[in-house]
Amino acid sequence: MKRIILLLLSASAVLQANAQQRDPKMDSFIDGLMAKMTLEEKIGQLNLPSEGDIITGLGSNSNIAGKIRKGQVGGMFNIKGADKIKNIQKIAVEESRMKIPMLFGMDVIHGYETVFPIPLGIACSWDMQAIERSARIAAIEASADGINWTFSPMVDIARDPRWGRVSEGSGEDPFLGGAIAKAMVRGYQGKDNSFSEKTNILACVKHFALYGAGEAGRDYNTADMSHIRMYNDYFYPYKAAVEQGVGSVMASFNVVDMVPAHANKWLLTEVLRNQWGFNGFVVADYGGIAEVTSHGLGDLKQASMLAMNAGLDMDMVAEGYLNTLIASVKEGKVPEEEINKACRRILEAKYKLGLFKDPYKFCDSKRAKKEIYTAEHRAIARKTASESFVLLKNEGNVLPLDKSKTIAVIGPLANTRSNMVGTWSVAAKLEKPLSLIEGLKDVAGKKANILYAVGSNLIEDAKMQQDATMFGRDIPRDARSEEQLTAEALKIASQADVIVAAMGEASEMSGESSSRTDIGIPAVQKRLLEKLVATGKPVVLVLFAGRPMTLVWEQENVPAILNVWFGGTEAAQAIGDVLFGDVNPSGKLVSTFPRNVAQIPLYYNHLMTGRPASDKGFEKFRSNYMDEKNAPLYPFGFGLSYTTFEYSDIKLSASDMNASGSITATVTVKNTGARQGAEVVQLYIRDMVGSVSRPVKELKGFEKISLKPGESRTVAFTITNDLLKFYNSELQHASEPGAFEVMIGGSSDAVRIASFNLK
Ligand code: BGC
Repeated sequence: MKRIILLLLSASAVLQANAQQRDPKMDSFIDGLMAKMTLEEKIGQLNLPSEGDIITGLGSNSNIAGKIRKGQVGGMFNIKGADKIKNIQKIAVEESRMKIPMLFGMDVIHGYETVFPIPLGIACSWDMQAIERSARIAAIEASADGINWTFSPMVDIARDPRWGRVSEGSGEDPFLGGAIAKAMVRGYQGKDNSFSEKTNILACVKHFALYGAGEAGRDYNTADMSHIRMYNDYFYPYKAAVEQGVGSVMASFNVVDMVPAHANKWLLTEVLRNQWGFNGFVVADYGGIAEVTSHGLGDLKQASMLAMNAGLDMDMVAEGYLNTLIASVKEGKVPEEEINKACRRILEAKYKLGLFKDPYKFCDSKRAKKEIYTAEHRAIARKTASESFVLLKNEGNVLPLDKSKTIAVIGPLANTRSNMVGTWSVAAKLEKPLSLIEGLKDVAGKKANILYAVGSNLIEDAKMQQDATMFGRDIPRDARSEEQLTAEALKIASQADVIVAAMGEASEMSGESSSRTDIGIPAVQKRLLEKLVATGKPVVLVLFAGRPMTLVWEQENVPAILNVWFGGTEAAQAIGDVLFGDVNPSGKLVSTFPRNVAQIPLYYNHLMTGRPASDKGFEKFRSNYMDEKNAPLYPFGFGLSYTTFEYSDIKLSASDMNASGSITATVTVKNTGARQGAEVVQLYIRDMVGSVSRPVKELKGFEKISLKPGESRTVAFTITNDLLKFYNSELQHASEPGAFEVMIGGSSDAVRIASFNLK
């Protein structure tokens, strides 16, 4: 049947929505400034070095101070301390000819000194207010320490848990990822992007684009996909950040359409600026311009020329711009206008931050003492961490634990402080968080009888253990044999009522350059776990993980599993809060947990095939495996509670909808258990017939509610035409008339269904 495509938001309407009002005062200030700048000084603004201690002159780039004096540096990153930064800023504003203040960036990814859960963990809270607040607190603390720019949020959609950097993003779903991207940008930059407060810092959405789609989960690897998938799935969260007014964008290391993102004009100019209306600046990733040469596009001069002409404004570390652009301009390969544009964008960011008014705005050393790692921030981080944990199993209500029982805490992750914060905790003081044992004792108080044995090493292979505990994550190797360690653990376990097994990954087993092919609990830990389960005592697996893991044996054999990710500086107390039932767990997965690595990529919002797998197991000539189910172990949106929730059928306000109208879908959710609990009510929609194949379901709304025992609440979702739009074969963003299925439930695989028709 012929279907009419409703015309939707054209690129120009998006542009209109995004284009931030220009500030004539800013324009004339920057016009005046740039009129006085030499081409060399303009190129200097595009240079972002990092290494080297500027004060002592040590490090691989020890003449940065000299470069700043010559106007060859636009900003620096990963330096902290208000006084230290003030001294560097002084060189720029007092000793360089143009006196232009510098940007000071840092990877403030999930908190500053008060560390929140890793991004994959905090996303499982589905709590946008909490996520925004975590970014707000990170901005307060970072700005009190001299920093005015963070390389966050990382919003790369990732459907391959072999990739270590799944830990840094918000999982596999575009809609949720977009909501989180906006919340984080608001938290860092403030609600109106006016940077009026001293605590508003510039955000940087990264890594543009498709970094999470690298082949086979190998880091920095080739990404290759259709434009329709890019626009519908992978671009969505970056675009959401742009809509929120994010001030900067970081290019990704991978190729997009075979062209490295750093040199990809279609990506950085056509999509980002022309289609989305982005008007901030684009920064390279670490050495990214130099890596264009490794991708095989020419030498550093050629790479710099390509990057500049593509729309990449600031060169992180490679110094390709600094050393080659003048020659390229002279040779007519780079129009001077491109350099002017890039320089202007960086000056605009500095202007918006208020640095021209007060270059030392973020250099108030008195703030650091009062505003960093405060009791208030830590209390919020503790609550947020407890919201991020996902209860995967709780057979026989092993949890919550009784504070007066004897608990044997066993495992190589039980007694480490430095491992609690997770990857990318650049400003954390690693000795400050409590270890799990300390946290449990703290929460259980005097009644606590908590025993401990290390039980096993982290990994059998000593070299891998070393790699997995980099950056000061101190999980020392125990020289005793596996037999000795197990014997000690079993002895301790025999004295306890319940065993808490603290196992999984060390914090540096995920994050950058931490891809793995085996995403199960390391074998040596698993052997110990099997023996602990064999004792017949109740076992609670407290799973530390920076990615979805394969846990089929654990799901079948361990009575209770609480996935705690890496919860930040307050993780240990937060785990105690949940294990002892002071907090009822409410996290829901944002990433599918496969049963088997070979199922990857595995994600809930997949397309239908012509020959779907049947529920009955393997059938010849169907899209299935002979030896494994298609279904995941734990689906997207899944997570248990100490209480239970019951969903009513869905009520729709109408069965037909016009493109200009809306439909309300309501369900009543009842707490049918004995404890107060929070539930994430999830709305999915399926477009039943489309001009292209459409996903089996897509998240289109969610609401987190808290219910007392026996309490019911009606949750209403308004479905508008906007929610039904997608990018079609012509890459028009349009809805199409026809039937839609509405699904609401507490997990992507446990939903009530209703349908309506879009006219
Ligand atoms: C990472 C970025 C990070 C940058 C600066 C790179 O290796 O890919 O995410 O922001 O380093 O530290």
